[in-house]
Amino acid sequence: MSSTLADALSAHVQGPVLVPGAPGYDEEVAAFNLAVPIRPDVVVGAAGVADVVAAVRLAREHGVPLRVQATGHGAERPLTSGVLVTTRRLDEVAVDPASRTATVGAGVRWAAVVERTAEHGLVPVVGSSSNVGVVGFLLGGGLGPLARSHGFGSDRLVGATVVTGTGEVVEAGDGEHADLLWALRGGKAAPGVVVAVRLALVEVPDLYAGALVFDTEHVEAVLRGWLAWTATADDLTTTSAAVVRMPPIDVVPEPLRGRTVLSLRFARPGPADDGERAAAPLRALAPALLDGLAPLAARDSDRIHGDPTTPAPVWTGGAGLAHVRDGFADAWLDAVGPHADQPFVAVELRHVAAPVPATRTAGEDAVAGRDAAFTLGLVTVGPEAAGVGPGAAERVLSAVRPWLADEANPNMSGGLPGRWRPDVAARLDAVRRRYDPDDVLGSRVPEPVDAG
Ligand SMILES: Cc1cc2nc3c(=O)[nH]c(=O)nc-3n(C[C@H](O)[C@H](O)[C@H](O)COP(=O)(O)OP(=O)(O)OC[C@H]3O[C@@H](n4cnc5c(N)ncnc54)[C@H](O)[C@@H]3O)c2cc1C
Repeated sequence: MSSTLADALSAHVQGPVLVPGAPGYDEEVAAFNLAVPIRPDVVVGAAGVADVVAAVRLAREHGVPLRVQATGHGAERPLTSGVLVTTRRLDEVAVDPASRTATVGAGVRWAAVVERTAEHGLVPVVGSSSNVGVVGFLLGGGLGPLARSHGFGSDRLVGATVVTGTGEVVEAGDGEHADLLWALRGGKAAPGVVVAVRLALVEVPDLYAGALVFDTEHVEAVLRGWLAWTATADDLTTTSAAVVRMPPIDVVPEPLRGRTVLSLRFARPGPADDGERAAAPLRALAPALLDGLAPLAARDSDRIHGDPTTPAPVWTGGAGLAHVRDGFADAWLDAVGPHADQPFVAVELRHVAAPVPATRTAGEDAVAGRDAAFTLGLVTVGPEAAGVGPGAAERVLSAVRPWLADEANPNMSGGLPGRWRPDVAARLDAVRRRYDPDDVLGSRVPEPVDAG
Protein backbone atom coordinates (compact mmCIF):
# COMPACT_ATOMS: atom_id res chain seq x y z
CA MET A 1 0.00 0.00 0.00
CA SER A 2 1.34 3.42 -0.89
CA SER A 3 1.84 5.95 1.87
CA THR A 4 -1.00 8.05 0.36
CA LEU A 5 -3.66 6.25 2.38
CA ALA A 6 -1.69 6.63 5.64
CA ASP A 7 -1.21 10.33 4.83
CA ALA A 8 -4.91 10.80 4.05
CA LEU A 9 -5.86 9.01 7.28
CA SER A 10 -3.47 11.19 9.30
CA ALA A 11 -5.12 14.27 7.80
CA HIS A 12 -8.66 13.16 8.70
CA VAL A 13 -8.32 11.20 11.92
CA GLN A 14 -7.95 12.54 15.46
CA GLY A 15 -6.55 9.34 17.05
CA PRO A 16 -3.12 7.90 16.24
CA VAL A 17 -2.40 6.71 12.68
CA LEU A 18 0.66 4.48 12.74
CA VAL A 19 2.65 2.48 10.22
CA PRO A 20 5.05 -0.41 10.99
CA GLY A 21 8.18 0.84 12.70
CA ALA A 22 6.50 3.98 14.08
CA PRO A 23 6.70 4.49 17.85
CA GLY A 24 3.54 3.06 19.44
CA TYR A 25 2.64 0.80 16.47
CA ASP A 26 3.48 -2.44 18.29
CA GLU A 27 1.40 -1.46 21.35
CA GLU A 28 -1.51 -0.33 19.19
CA VAL A 29 -1.78 -3.63 17.24
CA ALA A 30 -1.01 -5.89 20.25
CA ALA A 31 -3.50 -8.76 20.60
CA PHE A 32 -4.31 -11.10 23.50
CA ASN A 33 -3.53 -14.05 21.25
CA LEU A 34 0.18 -13.93 20.38
CA ALA A 35 0.06 -16.93 18.00
CA VAL A 36 -0.66 -14.96 14.84
CA PRO A 37 1.05 -11.84 13.50
CA ILE A 38 -1.06 -8.66 13.51
CA ARG A 39 0.94 -6.33 11.23
CA PRO A 40 -1.42 -4.15 9.13
CA ASP A 41 0.01 -1.56 6.73
CA VAL A 42 -1.56 1.09 8.90
CA VAL A 43 -3.39 1.09 12.22
CA VAL A 44 -5.96 3.72 13.18
CA GLY A 45 -6.59 4.13 16.90
CA ALA A 46 -10.16 5.43 16.62
CA ALA A 47 -10.84 8.24 19.09
CA GLY A 48 -14.50 8.62 18.11
CA VAL A 49 -17.17 7.88 15.51
CA ALA A 50 -15.73 10.45 13.08
CA ASP A 51 -12.40 8.60 13.02
CA VAL A 52 -14.16 5.35 12.18
CA VAL A 53 -16.14 7.05 9.40
CA ALA A 54 -12.95 8.54 7.93
CA ALA A 55 -11.11 5.20 8.11
CA VAL A 56 -13.93 3.27 6.41
CA ARG A 57 -14.47 5.88 3.69
CA LEU A 58 -10.77 6.19 2.90
CA ALA A 59 -10.19 2.43 2.93
CA ARG A 60 -13.13 2.05 0.54
CA GLU A 61 -11.91 4.83 -1.78
CA HIS A 62 -8.45 3.28 -1.91
CA GLY A 63 -9.79 -0.26 -2.38
CA VAL A 64 -7.98 -1.46 0.75
CA PRO A 65 -9.45 -4.00 3.21
CA LEU A 66 -10.26 -2.83 6.74
CA ARG A 67 -10.37 -4.95 9.90
CA VAL A 68 -11.33 -4.18 13.52
CA GLN A 69 -9.68 -5.18 16.78
CA ALA A 70 -10.74 -4.52 20.37
CA THR A 71 -8.73 -6.90 22.59
CA GLY A 72 -7.36 -9.48 20.17
CA HIS A 73 -8.98 -12.38 22.06
CA GLY A 74 -10.39 -13.42 18.71
CA ALA A 75 -7.18 -12.93 16.70
CA GLU A 76 -7.12 -16.23 14.84
CA ARG A 77 -5.76 -15.41 11.40
CA PRO A 78 -2.65 -13.41 10.49
CA LEU A 79 -3.26 -9.81 9.43
CA THR A 80 -0.35 -8.58 7.33
CA SER A 81 -1.83 -5.83 5.16
CA GLY A 82 -4.60 -3.25 4.93
CA VAL A 83 -6.03 -0.98 7.60
CA LEU A 84 -6.71 -2.05 11.19
CA VAL A 85 -9.07 0.07 13.28
CA THR A 86 -8.54 -0.40 17.01
CA THR A 87 -11.42 0.48 19.31
CA ARG A 88 -9.90 0.61 22.79
CA ARG A 89 -10.42 4.41 23.06
CA LEU A 90 -14.18 3.95 22.55
CA ASP A 91 -14.43 3.13 26.23
CA GLU A 92 -17.68 4.72 27.43
CA VAL A 93 -20.11 2.78 29.65
CA ALA A 94 -23.42 4.50 30.53
CA VAL A 95 -25.96 2.66 32.69
CA ASP A 96 -29.67 3.52 32.75
CA PRO A 97 -31.08 1.72 35.80
CA ALA A 98 -34.64 2.78 34.95
CA SER A 99 -34.70 0.97 31.60
CA ARG A 100 -32.19 -1.65 32.85
CA THR A 101 -29.91 -1.04 29.90
CA ALA A 102 -26.28 -0.08 29.38
CA THR A 103 -24.78 1.73 26.41
CA VAL A 104 -21.28 0.47 25.85
CA GLY A 105 -18.48 1.68 23.57
CA ALA A 106 -16.89 -0.77 21.15
CA GLY A 107 -13.58 -0.91 22.99
CA VAL A 108 -15.03 -1.96 26.34
CA ARG A 109 -14.30 -5.30 28.01
CA TRP A 110 -16.98 -7.08 30.03
CA ALA A 111 -15.20 -6.35 33.32
CA ALA A 112 -15.88 -2.61 32.91
CA VAL A 113 -19.58 -3.19 32.19
CA VAL A 114 -19.95 -5.48 35.19
CA GLU A 115 -18.23 -2.96 37.44
CA ARG A 116 -20.59 -0.15 36.38
CA THR A 117 -23.84 -2.16 36.36
CA ALA A 118 -23.31 -4.11 39.60
CA GLU A 119 -23.67 -0.92 41.64
CA HIS A 120 -27.31 -0.87 40.42
CA GLY A 121 -27.90 -4.54 41.29
CA LEU A 122 -27.79 -5.47 37.61
CA VAL A 123 -25.40 -7.50 35.46
CA PRO A 124 -24.94 -8.16 31.75
CA VAL A 125 -25.05 -11.73 30.41
CA VAL A 126 -21.32 -12.41 30.06
CA GLY A 127 -18.94 -15.15 28.96
CA SER A 128 -16.42 -17.11 30.97
CA SER A 129 -13.80 -14.32 30.82
CA SER A 130 -14.55 -10.69 31.68
CA ASN A 131 -11.34 -9.74 29.86
CA VAL A 132 -13.03 -10.42 26.50
CA GLY A 133 -14.40 -7.51 24.46
CA VAL A 134 -18.16 -6.87 24.55
CA VAL A 135 -18.70 -6.41 20.81
CA GLY A 136 -16.61 -9.35 19.57
CA PHE A 137 -18.38 -11.63 22.07
CA LEU A 138 -21.88 -10.47 21.08
CA LEU A 139 -21.15 -10.73 17.36
CA GLY A 140 -20.58 -14.47 17.88
CA GLY A 141 -23.73 -14.91 20.00
CA GLY A 142 -21.93 -15.26 23.32
CA LEU A 143 -22.29 -18.29 25.59
CA GLY A 144 -21.30 -17.97 29.22
CA PRO A 145 -21.38 -19.75 32.58
CA LEU A 146 -25.13 -18.97 32.88
CA ALA A 147 -25.91 -20.18 29.35
CA ARG A 148 -28.80 -22.44 30.31
CA SER A 149 -30.58 -20.02 32.63
CA HIS A 150 -29.88 -16.83 30.64
CA GLY A 151 -29.26 -17.81 27.03
CA PHE A 152 -26.82 -16.16 24.64
CA GLY A 153 -25.40 -12.73 25.47
CA SER A 154 -26.67 -11.37 22.16
CA ASP A 155 -30.24 -12.23 23.20
CA ARG A 156 -29.89 -9.00 25.22
CA LEU A 157 -28.47 -6.86 22.42
CA VAL A 158 -31.19 -4.25 21.84
CA GLY A 159 -29.39 -1.63 19.78
CA ALA A 160 -26.14 -0.70 18.04
CA THR A 161 -24.48 2.29 16.42
CA VAL A 162 -22.67 1.10 13.32
CA VAL A 163 -20.48 2.72 10.67
CA THR A 164 -21.45 0.63 7.65
CA GLY A 165 -19.09 -0.48 4.92
CA THR A 166 -20.10 2.62 2.95
CA GLY A 167 -19.17 4.92 5.83
CA GLU A 168 -22.74 5.81 6.89
CA VAL A 169 -23.53 6.01 10.60
CA VAL A 170 -26.71 4.06 11.35
CA GLU A 171 -28.61 3.36 14.55
CA ALA A 172 -29.95 -0.19 14.59
CA GLY A 173 -32.71 -0.86 17.13
CA ASP A 174 -36.27 0.21 17.99
CA GLY A 175 -37.41 -1.25 14.69
CA GLU A 176 -34.79 0.65 12.63
CA HIS A 177 -32.30 -1.35 10.54
CA ALA A 178 -33.84 -4.50 11.98
CA ASP A 179 -31.96 -6.73 9.53
CA LEU A 180 -28.62 -5.25 10.58
CA LEU A 181 -29.39 -5.79 14.29
CA TRP A 182 -30.49 -9.33 13.45
CA ALA A 183 -27.09 -9.94 11.77
CA LEU A 184 -25.13 -8.41 14.66
CA ARG A 185 -26.79 -10.88 17.05
CA GLY A 186 -24.59 -13.85 16.29
CA GLY A 187 -23.74 -13.35 12.61
CA LYS A 188 -20.07 -12.85 13.62
CA ALA A 189 -18.55 -10.93 10.67
CA ALA A 190 -20.19 -7.49 10.78
CA PRO A 191 -20.78 -5.50 7.56
CA GLY A 192 -19.46 -2.39 9.32
CA VAL A 193 -17.66 -1.17 12.40
CA VAL A 194 -19.80 -1.27 15.54
CA VAL A 195 -19.02 1.83 17.60
CA ALA A 196 -21.44 1.25 20.49
CA VAL A 197 -24.05 -1.27 21.63
CA ARG A 198 -27.10 -1.06 23.89
CA LEU A 199 -27.65 -4.05 26.19
CA ALA A 200 -30.52 -5.21 28.36
CA LEU A 201 -29.26 -6.07 31.85
CA VAL A 202 -30.50 -8.77 34.20
CA GLU A 203 -30.86 -9.25 37.94
CA VAL A 204 -29.11 -12.25 39.49
CA PRO A 205 -29.50 -11.60 43.22
CA ASP A 206 -28.30 -15.07 44.29
CA LEU A 207 -25.94 -17.45 42.59
CA TYR A 208 -24.44 -20.74 43.76
CA ALA A 209 -21.38 -21.38 41.62
CA GLY A 210 -17.74 -22.36 41.31
CA ALA A 211 -15.71 -25.41 40.36
CA LEU A 212 -15.01 -28.87 41.74
CA VAL A 213 -11.52 -30.02 40.79
CA PHE A 214 -10.82 -33.76 40.58
CA ASP A 215 -7.42 -35.43 40.38
CA THR A 216 -6.23 -37.56 37.42
CA GLU A 217 -7.36 -40.90 38.87
CA HIS A 218 -11.00 -39.67 38.98
CA VAL A 219 -11.15 -37.91 35.60
CA GLU A 220 -12.74 -40.77 33.72
CA ALA A 221 -15.37 -41.63 36.35
CA VAL A 222 -16.33 -38.00 36.92
CA LEU A 223 -16.58 -37.23 33.23
CA ARG A 224 -18.81 -40.24 32.62
CA GLY A 225 -20.89 -39.48 35.70
CA TRP A 226 -21.30 -35.81 34.78
CA LEU A 227 -22.30 -36.58 31.17
CA ALA A 228 -24.99 -38.97 32.41
CA TRP A 229 -26.12 -36.44 35.04
CA THR A 230 -26.63 -33.66 32.46
CA ALA A 231 -29.71 -35.52 31.18
CA THR A 232 -31.28 -34.86 34.59
CA ALA A 233 -30.01 -31.29 35.17
CA ASP A 234 -32.67 -28.76 36.09
CA ASP A 235 -33.36 -25.85 33.74
CA LEU A 236 -31.45 -23.29 35.79
CA THR A 237 -28.17 -25.18 36.14
CA THR A 238 -25.27 -24.67 33.73
CA THR A 239 -22.22 -26.94 34.00
CA SER A 240 -19.07 -27.65 32.02
CA ALA A 241 -16.11 -30.01 32.37
CA ALA A 242 -12.56 -29.22 31.33
CA VAL A 243 -9.65 -31.64 31.48
CA VAL A 244 -6.65 -29.41 32.05
CA ARG A 245 -2.94 -30.19 32.09
CA MET A 246 -1.73 -27.80 34.76
CA PRO A 247 1.78 -26.52 34.04
CA PRO A 248 4.45 -27.16 36.71
CA ILE A 249 4.89 -23.46 37.47
CA ASP A 250 4.66 -21.42 40.68
CA VAL A 251 1.51 -19.45 39.81
CA VAL A 252 -0.47 -22.73 39.82
CA PRO A 253 -1.62 -23.62 43.39
CA GLU A 254 0.40 -26.48 44.91
CA PRO A 255 -2.22 -29.27 44.84
CA LEU A 256 -2.75 -28.74 41.10
CA ARG A 257 0.79 -27.97 39.93
CA GLY A 258 1.93 -30.27 37.11
CA ARG A 259 -1.19 -32.47 37.34
CA THR A 260 -3.90 -33.39 34.83
CA VAL A 261 -7.19 -32.55 36.50
CA LEU A 262 -10.86 -32.27 35.67
CA SER A 263 -12.48 -28.98 36.53
CA LEU A 264 -16.24 -29.37 36.83
CA ARG A 265 -17.83 -25.91 36.71
CA PHE A 266 -21.30 -25.31 38.11
CA ALA A 267 -23.57 -22.25 38.18
CA ARG A 268 -27.15 -22.01 39.36
CA PRO A 269 -28.98 -18.74 40.02
CA GLY A 270 -31.06 -18.99 43.19
CA PRO A 271 -30.62 -19.68 46.90
CA ALA A 272 -27.55 -21.59 48.13
CA ASP A 273 -29.67 -24.41 49.58
CA ASP A 274 -31.18 -25.15 46.18
CA GLY A 275 -27.74 -24.92 44.57
CA GLU A 276 -26.26 -27.34 47.08
CA ARG A 277 -29.06 -29.80 46.47
CA ALA A 278 -28.60 -29.57 42.70
CA ALA A 279 -24.81 -30.03 43.02
CA ALA A 280 -24.99 -32.96 45.47
CA PRO A 281 -24.90 -35.71 42.79
CA LEU A 282 -21.80 -34.10 41.26
CA ARG A 283 -20.02 -33.85 44.61
CA ALA A 284 -20.81 -37.55 45.10
CA LEU A 285 -19.02 -38.59 41.89
CA ALA A 286 -15.58 -38.71 43.55
CA PRO A 287 -13.59 -36.97 46.30
CA ALA A 288 -12.61 -33.51 45.03
CA LEU A 289 -9.06 -32.18 45.24
CA LEU A 290 -10.55 -28.70 45.59
CA ASP A 291 -14.19 -27.81 46.25
CA GLY A 292 -14.88 -24.22 45.19
CA LEU A 293 -18.69 -24.40 45.05
CA ALA A 294 -20.25 -21.67 47.19
CA PRO A 295 -22.54 -18.63 47.00
CA LEU A 296 -20.97 -16.19 44.54
CA ALA A 297 -21.82 -12.60 43.60
CA ALA A 298 -22.96 -12.56 39.97
CA ARG A 299 -20.44 -9.78 39.28
CA ASP A 300 -17.69 -12.34 40.03
CA SER A 301 -18.97 -14.97 37.61
CA ASP A 302 -15.64 -14.94 35.71
CA ARG A 303 -14.18 -16.85 38.68
CA ILE A 304 -16.21 -19.92 37.74
CA HIS A 305 -13.97 -20.88 34.81
CA GLY A 306 -10.89 -18.98 35.96
CA ASP A 307 -9.79 -18.23 32.38
CA PRO A 308 -6.25 -16.97 31.77
CA THR A 309 -5.78 -13.19 31.69
CA THR A 310 -2.21 -13.00 30.38
CA PRO A 311 -1.61 -12.78 26.62
CA ALA A 312 -0.10 -16.01 25.21
CA PRO A 313 0.28 -17.79 21.86
CA VAL A 314 -2.85 -19.91 21.67
CA TRP A 315 -4.82 -21.90 19.12
CA THR A 316 -8.36 -22.92 19.95
CA GLY A 317 -10.81 -25.04 18.02
CA GLY A 318 -14.27 -26.27 18.76
CA ALA A 319 -17.67 -27.46 17.60
CA GLY A 320 -21.18 -28.22 18.80
CA LEU A 321 -22.48 -31.63 19.83
CA ALA A 322 -26.07 -32.68 19.11
CA HIS A 323 -26.05 -35.11 22.06
CA VAL A 324 -23.66 -37.24 24.14
CA ARG A 325 -25.48 -40.60 24.17
CA ASP A 326 -24.49 -43.85 22.43
CA GLY A 327 -20.84 -44.14 23.43
CA PHE A 328 -19.75 -40.51 23.24
CA ALA A 329 -17.87 -40.70 26.57
CA ASP A 330 -15.73 -43.60 25.26
CA ALA A 331 -14.91 -41.75 22.03
CA TRP A 332 -14.10 -38.51 23.88
CA LEU A 333 -11.86 -40.17 26.47
CA ASP A 334 -10.03 -42.16 23.78
CA ALA A 335 -9.40 -38.97 21.79
CA VAL A 336 -8.55 -36.48 24.53
CA GLY A 337 -8.69 -38.22 27.92
CA PRO A 338 -5.81 -37.89 30.39
CA HIS A 339 -3.91 -40.77 28.77
CA ALA A 340 -4.47 -39.80 25.12
CA ASP A 341 -1.50 -38.68 23.03
CA GLN A 342 -2.68 -35.23 21.94
CA PRO A 343 -1.33 -31.67 22.16
CA PHE A 344 -4.20 -29.86 23.91
CA VAL A 345 -3.59 -28.35 27.35
CA ALA A 346 -7.32 -28.00 27.92
CA VAL A 347 -10.26 -29.89 26.45
CA GLU A 348 -13.67 -28.68 27.47
CA LEU A 349 -17.30 -29.71 27.17
CA ARG A 350 -20.01 -27.19 28.05
CA HIS A 351 -23.61 -28.27 28.63
CA VAL A 352 -25.48 -25.49 26.85
CA ALA A 353 -28.79 -27.05 25.79
CA ALA A 354 -30.99 -24.01 26.30
CA PRO A 355 -34.18 -25.17 28.00
CA VAL A 356 -36.02 -21.83 28.02
CA PRO A 357 -36.69 -20.13 24.66
CA ALA A 358 -38.12 -17.25 26.71
CA THR A 359 -34.55 -16.16 27.45
CA ARG A 360 -34.48 -14.76 23.91
CA THR A 361 -35.73 -11.40 25.11
CA ALA A 362 -34.32 -9.41 22.23
CA GLY A 363 -36.18 -11.17 19.44
CA GLU A 364 -34.80 -12.93 16.44
CA ASP A 365 -31.14 -13.34 15.63
CA ALA A 366 -28.46 -14.97 13.49
CA VAL A 367 -26.95 -17.06 16.31
CA ALA A 368 -25.41 -20.36 15.21
CA GLY A 369 -25.46 -23.32 17.56
CA ARG A 370 -28.85 -23.17 19.22
CA ASP A 371 -29.27 -26.78 18.10
CA ALA A 372 -26.26 -27.95 20.14
CA ALA A 373 -26.71 -29.65 23.50
CA PHE A 374 -23.00 -29.24 24.26
CA THR A 375 -20.03 -27.37 22.89
CA LEU A 376 -16.56 -28.85 22.75
CA GLY A 377 -13.41 -26.76 22.96
CA LEU A 378 -9.74 -27.59 22.41
CA VAL A 379 -6.86 -25.33 23.43
CA THR A 380 -3.16 -25.56 22.53
CA VAL A 381 -0.64 -23.11 23.94
CA GLY A 382 2.91 -22.24 22.88
CA PRO A 383 4.91 -21.01 19.90
CA GLU A 384 3.82 -24.07 17.85
CA ALA A 385 0.12 -23.74 18.78
CA ALA A 386 -1.12 -22.36 15.47
CA GLY A 387 0.84 -25.00 13.52
CA VAL A 388 -0.14 -28.01 15.62
CA GLY A 389 -3.73 -27.14 16.57
CA PRO A 390 -5.71 -27.46 13.33
CA GLY A 391 -4.49 -30.97 12.38
CA ALA A 392 -4.90 -32.30 15.92
CA ALA A 393 -8.39 -30.76 16.15
CA GLU A 394 -9.38 -32.40 12.88
CA ARG A 395 -8.40 -35.80 14.35
CA VAL A 396 -10.53 -35.13 17.46
CA LEU A 397 -13.51 -33.98 15.39
CA SER A 398 -13.23 -37.11 13.23
CA ALA A 399 -13.33 -39.26 16.36
CA VAL A 400 -16.59 -37.61 17.53
CA ARG A 401 -18.16 -37.02 14.10
CA PRO A 402 -21.34 -39.04 14.81
CA TRP A 403 -22.19 -36.64 17.65
CA LEU A 404 -21.44 -33.30 15.94
CA ALA A 405 -24.29 -30.80 15.66
CA ASP A 406 -25.14 -29.34 12.25
CA GLU A 407 -24.38 -25.79 13.37
CA ALA A 408 -21.17 -24.53 14.98
CA ASN A 409 -21.13 -21.40 17.11
CA PRO A 410 -18.28 -19.18 15.85
CA ASN A 411 -17.14 -18.01 19.31
CA MET A 412 -16.80 -21.59 20.44
CA SER A 413 -15.18 -22.76 17.16
CA GLY A 414 -12.07 -20.60 17.61
CA GLY A 415 -9.82 -21.05 14.58
CA LEU A 416 -12.29 -23.38 12.86
CA PRO A 417 -15.16 -21.90 10.84
CA GLY A 418 -18.60 -21.33 12.39
CA ARG A 419 -21.52 -23.04 10.64
CA TRP A 420 -24.97 -21.48 10.24
CA ARG A 421 -28.25 -22.96 9.00
CA PRO A 422 -28.36 -22.43 5.19
CA ASP A 423 -31.30 -20.00 5.39
CA VAL A 424 -29.52 -17.94 8.06
CA ALA A 425 -26.27 -17.93 6.04
CA ALA A 426 -28.15 -16.72 2.94
CA ARG A 427 -29.87 -13.93 4.88
CA LEU A 428 -26.53 -12.89 6.42
CA ASP A 429 -25.06 -12.68 2.94
CA ALA A 430 -27.93 -10.43 1.81
CA VAL A 431 -27.48 -8.11 4.82
CA ARG A 432 -23.74 -7.90 4.19
CA ARG A 433 -24.29 -7.03 0.51
CA ARG A 434 -26.67 -4.28 1.52
CA TYR A 435 -24.55 -2.63 4.22
CA ASP A 436 -21.08 -3.33 2.78
CA PRO A 437 -21.55 -3.65 -1.01
CA ASP A 438 -17.80 -3.43 -1.72
CA ASP A 439 -16.93 -5.91 1.06
CA VAL A 440 -14.56 -3.41 2.69
CA LEU A 441 -14.90 -5.29 6.01
CA GLY A 442 -14.23 -8.67 4.36
CA SER A 443 -17.35 -10.11 5.95
CA ARG A 444 -18.59 -11.94 2.86
CA VAL A 445 -18.17 -15.73 2.67
CA PRO A 446 -16.26 -16.38 -0.59
CA GLU A 447 -18.24 -17.98 -3.42
CA PRO A 448 -17.47 -21.72 -3.67
CA VAL A 449 -14.81 -22.35 -6.31
CA ASP A 450 -16.12 -24.31 -9.28
CA ALA A 451 -13.73 -27.27 -9.53
CA GLY A 452 -14.86 -27.95 -13.12
C1 LIG B 1 -9.95 -16.67 27.24
C2 LIG B 1 -11.16 -16.61 26.34
C3 LIG B 1 -12.41 -16.91 26.86
C4 LIG B 1 -13.53 -16.88 26.04
N1 LIG B 1 -14.74 -17.21 26.56
C5 LIG B 1 -15.84 -17.18 25.78
C6 LIG B 1 -17.11 -17.55 26.29
O1 LIG B 1 -17.26 -17.93 27.45
N2 LIG B 1 -18.17 -17.50 25.46
C7 LIG B 1 -18.06 -17.07 24.17
O2 LIG B 1 -19.08 -17.00 23.48
N3 LIG B 1 -16.87 -16.73 23.65
C8 LIG B 1 -15.76 -16.80 24.42
N4 LIG B 1 -14.56 -16.48 23.89
C9 LIG B 1 -14.47 -16.13 22.46
C10 LIG B 1 -14.63 -14.62 22.29
O3 LIG B 1 -15.95 -14.23 22.61
C11 LIG B 1 -14.35 -14.24 20.83
O4 LIG B 1 -13.03 -14.58 20.50
C12 LIG B 1 -14.59 -12.77 20.57
O5 LIG B 1 -14.56 -12.55 19.19
C13 LIG B 1 -13.53 -11.90 21.24
O6 LIG B 1 -13.86 -10.56 21.04
P1 LIG B 1 -12.77 -9.42 21.36
O7 LIG B 1 -13.35 -8.13 20.96
O8 LIG B 1 -12.29 -9.59 22.75
O9 LIG B 1 -11.56 -9.85 20.41
P2 LIG B 1 -10.99 -9.17 19.07
O10 LIG B 1 -9.97 -10.13 18.58
O11 LIG B 1 -10.56 -7.79 19.32
O12 LIG B 1 -12.23 -9.16 18.11
C14 LIG B 1 -12.66 -10.35 17.51
C15 LIG B 1 -13.35 -10.05 16.21
O13 LIG B 1 -14.57 -9.38 16.47
C16 LIG B 1 -14.82 -8.42 15.45
N5 LIG B 1 -14.98 -7.12 16.09
C17 LIG B 1 -14.51 -6.72 17.30
N6 LIG B 1 -14.91 -5.46 17.53
C18 LIG B 1 -15.65 -5.06 16.47
C19 LIG B 1 -16.34 -3.87 16.12
N7 LIG B 1 -16.35 -2.82 16.95
N8 LIG B 1 -16.99 -3.80 14.95
C20 LIG B 1 -17.00 -4.85 14.10
N9 LIG B 1 -16.35 -6.01 14.35
C21 LIG B 1 -15.69 -6.11 15.54
C22 LIG B 1 -13.67 -8.44 14.49
O14 LIG B 1 -14.00 -9.27 13.41
C23 LIG B 1 -12.57 -9.08 15.30
O15 LIG B 1 -11.67 -9.83 14.48
C24 LIG B 1 -13.40 -16.51 24.67
C25 LIG B 1 -12.13 -16.23 24.14
C26 LIG B 1 -11.02 -16.28 24.97
C27 LIG B 1 -9.67 -16.00 24.37
